[in-house]
Amino acid sequence: MASPSDVAGAARGHAFAARSSRRIAARLVWQNSSAKLLDEVGDLLVQGVVQRVEQMPGGPVLVHLPQGWLFEADRNAALDGLSAPRPDAWISRLEAFHPRLIAVALACLLGAYSIWRWGLDLIVALAMAVTPELPVKGMDQSSLFMLDRLMADESRIPAGRQAEVQAIFDQLTDQVPDAPWGDYRLEFRDMPDIGPNAFAMPAGTIVITDQLLDEFSQDDVIAGVLAHELAHVHERHVLRQLYRAGSSYLLIALIAGDPGPFLQDMLLEGNALMSLSYSRRQEAQADALGTATAGAAGYDAAALAMFFERLQRDYGDGDLGWLSTHPGMEERILRIRNRARPSP
Ligand SMILES: [Zn+2]
Repeated sequence: MASPSDVAGAARGHAFAARSSRRIAARLVWQNSSAKLLDEVGDLLVQGVVQRVEQMPGGPVLVHLPQGWLFEADRNAALDGLSAPRPDAWISRLEAFHPRLIAVALACLLGAYSIWRWGLDLIVALAMAVTPELPVKGMDQSSLFMLDRLMADESRIPAGRQAEVQAIFDQLTDQVPDAPWGDYRLEFRDMPDIGPNAFAMPAGTIVITDQLLDEFSQDDVIAGVLAHELAHVHERHVLRQLYRAGSSYLLIALIAGDPGPFLQDMLLEGNALMSLSYSRRQEAQADALGTATAGAAGYDAAALAMFFERLQRDYGDGDLGWLSTHPGMEERILRIRNRARPSP
């Protein structure tokens, strides 16, 4: 591209300081894109690169100068050759923008793309990353409180038996990673309406029903069930599913920067934890990790399959308890058995 020939000139007119409407009689002298703005007596007002030359329709020519100075050429003045530097590359055009504006625009685009591409998973992952321990612990407490008010009675299981089950639980928790948002704790409850069941709360509270302990006396089965629930906690399934269930509120909570009130609201809206269903992937993961944990603690790794079979036999495909929140039972039984089978 040919370089423009050298041009120089001068014109009379008026100058305006930045954000000022006071007209100052002035003279603009320029060489190519560099200009000096002088007042009547020849004192320098500003000098630098011409930023923009604007021809008002039917009006004067306006020359934008550094520091917000504006030069309005007299109507009859000739400004031959005066121009702003040519933006040779897109990068120089970008530089004229505020760099932070560009960053914000890019972040918005990236955000929109991410939501489109990864959607809920990304939002949930973000929320989990910023969730502090305290509200999650509070969640366990309020869930238990709601449970006791709505559907659970004090356990009828004798203290001696409770201590034995607690000992199984302690053996298992020795084998698993720490709870991400709290501590593991076992709670016994009499829950005739939900039958033989066990479920986890996000900070690590596991509730086991009297109905489960009534029907299943073998330690291996109890260990299998508890280890499965522990896996839902340390793999963060519980909080993840709660967040997924309340995803629209979650966005607002994230934007507000404090998921605490969101968690409280979700809990007050009924029994979120009891109606929580995990994905098949999460169940498969909890089965695999749970049976491994039970095995490592010295229990029969296949006992969880026994538990599933008994439930299936006794409760069929009814919507009671464990079966309603744990789909795909037959396939899972097979997988647990295959995994537990000693390799030849
Ligand atoms: Zn499960």
